[in-house]
Amino acid sequence: MSILEKVDPELYKVVRLEEKRQIEKLEMIASENFTSPGVLEAAGTVLTDKYAEGYPGKRYYGGCEYVDMAEDLARDRAKQLFGADHVNVQPHSGSSANIGVYNTVLEPGDTILGMDLAHGGHLTHGASVSVSGTLYNAVHYGVDKETETLNYDEILRLAQEHKPKLIIAGASAYPRTIDFDRFRAIADEVGALFMTDMAHIAGLVAAKLHPNPVPVSHFTTTTTHKTLRGPRGGMILIGKDGENTIGKVAAKSGRTKLWSELLDSSIMPGIQGGPLMHIIAAKAVAFKEALEPSFVDYQKQIVKNAKVLADYFTSKGLRLISGGTDNHLMLMDVTSLGITGKEAEQMLDKANITVNKNAIPYDTKSPFVTSGIRIGTPALTTRGLKEDDMRTVGEFIYTVLSSKGDDATVASVAHAVSQFSAKFPRTSQQ
Ligand code: PLP
Repeated sequence: MSILEKVDPELYKVVRLEEKRQIEKLEMIASENFTSPGVLEAAGTVLTDKYAEGYPGKRYYGGCEYVDMAEDLARDRAKQLFGADHVNVQPHSGSSANIGVYNTVLEPGDTILGMDLAHGGHLTHGASVSVSGTLYNAVHYGVDKETETLNYDEILRLAQEHKPKLIIAGASAYPRTIDFDRFRAIADEVGALFMTDMAHIAGLVAAKLHPNPVPVSHFTTTTTHKTLRGPRGGMILIGKDGENTIGKVAAKSGRTKLWSELLDSSIMPGIQGGPLMHIIAAKAVAFKEALEPSFVDYQKQIVKNAKVLADYFTSKGLRLISGGTDNHLMLMDVTSLGITGKEAEQMLDKANITVNKNAIPYDTKSPFVTSGIRIGTPALTTRGLKEDDMRTVGEFIYTVLSSKGDDATVASVAHAVSQFSAKFPRTSQQ
């Protein structure tokens, strides 16, 4: 009997149920993944007990000699992985990482230009319900109505019109490659700072399957738990191209420091207290794994799997936003099937397939209903699914959606999914 089972049988049961759900169902939420046993073990270590406000070598607490080593490992590996000059691994989440950058370079009321939530951006890119939208004057760009891809001329026009202090690239539901050089040129043209939020694509970037934003962004933020396959958390990187020195120009009135110094104090004491040292340790493990050649193979497989799935849907006449995908996710417009995104999510869930409803660009339905679903391949690829398996998964999804959730069809797919899913472990990593 496990200790947890003895100490708290109720909670133990919850954990086992979640574990069962992860194995029995097909997890296709684009922002999720399955951590390796090493990452999980590090996240459950005694490092959780340690207070370590401050940074390695400069803490406000004694006894930090070993957690310092853990944080140094995480920072050094992240620098190597992304070619960064400075890294802060303390943000508790992707949202904290973004707010940490804003708190470094913006004053309340400053203008920011980010991607519209309704077109695939993230809440923290200035949505009205987020502090990023209430504290700052947020202006948004979206995707082009025809191509459903970013229109850089329009982003430039908006930047010229609104003169933002900070331009934000990055998205939660954008299936195409982002041109960071173009974004940087726009930022330079209007005298703005440029931040990239690479949360979704960080794993692809690490494997060099997507252009790296770090060298061309003043700040790059990310989560560590999506394609990067680490523990739930955030991180901020500053590139090697001398931006850190440019930071000598005061970012905030009266403070003339390097960007890296301003950033670190913006995280702690600015918006956080003690770092989660067990999670930082788990980040270090994930970055070590990401530096191994097998991680590149894994990322390549994510992209291959997404393409195969997208091609399958297209061959069945289903409409994908922008016509397909370059990365780990796709957005499907389900309206031609006579259903909503909400209904699609629910019927797939009954069939043991987990996706999320998602607004599509220029959606006429509310965010609680939506016209689309977002489908991603990172988690299933971790379980070892390959191209042929993805065609099977595509067929499951198509069968359910085209039946409009017919009870008998859903029940038979649900059965087939659990048999299929049982063939794959939670993670193919040892
Ligand atoms: N940035 C992007 C692009 C995201 O997609 C997400 C989460 O989905 C976040 C930031 C926020 O991350 P977190 O949920 O860790 O706050």
